[in-house]
Amino acid sequence: MKVVIVGGVAGGATAAARLRRLDEAAEIVVFERSGYVSYANCGLPYYIGGAITDREELTLQTPESFWQRFRVDVRVRHEVTAIHPAEKTVTVKDLTTGAVFDESYDKLLLSPGARPTQPALPGAGLGRLFTLRTVEDTLKIREFIEQHHPKSAVLAGGGFIAIELAENLRDLGLEVTLVQRPKQLLNPLDADMAAFLHAQMRRHGVRLHLGRTVEGFAADGERVNVLIRDEAPLTADMVVLAIGVTPDTGLARDAGLDLGIKGSILVNDRMETSVPDIYAVGDAVQVKHFVTGQDALLSLAGPANKQGRIAADNICGGDSRYPGSQGSSVIKVFDMTAASTGVNEKNAKAAGIDCDKLVLSPMSHAGYYPGGRVMTMKVVFEKNTYRLLGAQIVGYEGVDKRIDVLSTAIHAGLTVLQLKDLDLAYAPPYSSAKDPVNMAGFMAEDLAKGLVKQFFTEDVAALPRDGSVTLLDTRTPGEYAGGHAEGFVNIPVDELRDRLDEIPAGKPVYVMCQSGLRSYVACRILAQRGFACYNFSGGYRLYAAVTEDRAAAEEALPCGMEK
Ligand code: FAD
Repeated sequence: MKVVIVGGVAGGATAAARLRRLDEAAEIVVFERSGYVSYANCGLPYYIGGAITDREELTLQTPESFWQRFRVDVRVRHEVTAIHPAEKTVTVKDLTTGAVFDESYDKLLLSPGARPTQPALPGAGLGRLFTLRTVEDTLKIREFIEQHHPKSAVLAGGGFIAIELAENLRDLGLEVTLVQRPKQLLNPLDADMAAFLHAQMRRHGVRLHLGRTVEGFAADGERVNVLIRDEAPLTADMVVLAIGVTPDTGLARDAGLDLGIKGSILVNDRMETSVPDIYAVGDAVQVKHFVTGQDALLSLAGPANKQGRIAADNICGGDSRYPGSQGSSVIKVFDMTAASTGVNEKNAKAAGIDCDKLVLSPMSHAGYYPGGRVMTMKVVFEKNTYRLLGAQIVGYEGVDKRIDVLSTAIHAGLTVLQLKDLDLAYAPPYSSAKDPVNMAGFMAEDLAKGLVKQFFTEDVAALPRDGSVTLLDTRTPGEYAGGHAEGFVNIPVDELRDRLDEIPAGKPVYVMCQSGLRSYVACRILAQRGFACYNFSGGYRLYAAVTEDRAAAEEALPCGMEK
């Protein structure tokens, strides 16, 4: 059997290695357009910033090492330019010599990935304008920085790559402005959770121009003007376009393969395309979202690697199936970590799912052991069934661990109520006897049993301030003085039982504290005395993060970074 693989990085290289492990006799040829095989795309921003110092670290595998270990014939700087399904051949161009030749296959695996989305904007071909996908792109950016010592950069986009680049360019001392059409960074997060991320970026000197649209670029001497709709241009020494990725599927389209969203390749759960003996994996393929069952594009390394393995199994006569993607992701944002899995509230609603949520602010480990930090965790679940739909966490230590537990719970089809039963490891330096994930389960249980009712950030503005309801803040006077939601009166939770006469009988009470814990205690005190009581989910921490974020966004300079 002869297997030809197009693309030799995440999906392609994984498939090649798996194929060899399953079939010592197969002839395996990998064509890779760039000069490198199996390179660490996820590490590229960190080489630009200098966290990864040795270029070799990005390219641990070489065609020679692949041959030595796996007897796989890897040909870098070879672009597959056409597929001929009837003849079962591909046309290949050697980018070094220019030679063009045909290569036959018994099975063809496409793992061409996704390219940076580059809309046809005026000035898109200018120098000093970069994209980041390959090792070559990385070296180009790094060389430019070393030779030209830019002082400022504009990053167009607000996803993983733009955020990672922002951090790495700040580490190099550049002024960084991030321009993004949506009003928030990192779309897998809901806007309330993104507020923490925005604050972190601003704290580290990244200027955020959210809700702005880049309309083009113009040379300005040695600099670039980034043209923004309805605003003055931003001027910078370099620009990186990172507004998203598009499946790199021209080959598949020309060969007549069935395509889906944004030209992605349609595959079944065995990673088979619509054409016999052609498989496809990775960023180039459309997947089923594991939670919603909807068609989706989720460009992440984990799915690409798993799909590569599944395709290889099936090419070798097995029957491996891909269950769909959950979109689990994690990102370092300076010293902060943001992570998500499953669907967020916005997308759950868009998918027509009747969902509820809870937001909590647990410590990463036992409060009495030094070094613990608060994290903000938002858990989204289906109303009535309590099926766990998704989670988002922003914080420091321990965020990655909790998101992976929640991701596993979603994969296992657990309800949010079952989170309370998970038997999670505990010692004070690592967690609490009631782990944050267990806490989410306890809170859900209280909701399910009707012990507590919630209200949310989006409800606060509309609450009546005419005395028909009581708005209560149960923090200490000092905390209250430091900032509170308009109209909320302060009765610290520890004084509440003695000051119940200050709360008008027969009227609903809306209670807020810093994290949601003391207000929960207050709600239980009040509910047992006959009050209809609502606990603010996420606490003043979340409320303040969201309102401060809105204020900062409004204050953001409307024009150039030169100001
Ligand atoms: P790729 O790994 O992109 O490989 C596709 C390869 O195919 C490319 O090298 C391309 O040159 C080659 N190719 C395309 N067309 C042809 C052709 N016609 N002929 C020959 N070769 C061809 N994901 C995460 O989960 N976590 C992260 O932290 C993360 N960070 C990232 C950071 C950066 C800067 C980038 C660019 C991506 C990051 N990703 C991350 C995404 C992740 O790298 C991709 O999801 C994953 O690599 C997709 O694997 P793939 O095999 O589909 O495509």
